[in-house]
Amino acid sequence: MTDKVKIATVSLAGCFGCHMSILDIDEKIIDLVELVEFDRSPLTDIKRVSYCDIGIIEGAVANGENVEILRDFRKHCKTLVAIGACALNGGIPAMRNHFSLKECLLESYADGMGLENLCIPNDPELPMLLNKVLPVQQVVEIDYVLPGCPPPADMIWKFFTALLEGREPEFSAQEIRYD
Ligand code: SF4
Repeated sequence: MTDKVKIATVSLAGCFGCHMSILDIDEKIIDLVELVEFDRSPLTDIKRVSYCDIGIIEGAVANGENVEILRDFRKHCKTLVAIGACALNGGIPAMRNHFSLKECLLESYADGMGLENLCIPNDPELPMLLNKVLPVQQVVEIDYVLPGCPPPADMIWKFFTALLEGREPEFSAQEIRYD
């Protein structure tokens, strides 16, 4: 039996930079592991999320597998937190939204510079790309968002200590300025 808070994390269409920022809390990670237990996460390599207190989503929604995983997190996590610009507004992955999916695939696999006689991968094992990359809150309800690319480690620490202590996380205007 454990009374630790159970946390799951995932990177959808993200670069793992937000996960790296979680690890950037440095020695406070020792305090964190005293308080939490990790479920599905790149930190544990557990493949399916089980019932958790907090789910952390990095990255945008770019394909069918992302949609499935995100819905699974919503179903299993009491509190769902979107961290980073990609999750909040599509970020860098959403830059492809300026083009049609067909244009993106042709540029990547057929017509792009240096490509010759290549074809578009269509193995049924590959997740189907969505026509447009979506922010996570267009697919499921999100309880909290942490902006930034990535959110700074201190902000992540402040946010999670508030949640773990049962307080509402609060930030000053200065703390959430990115100009
Ligand atoms: S918000 Fe920035 S750091 Fe986080 S996944 Fe997107 S590009 Fe990477």
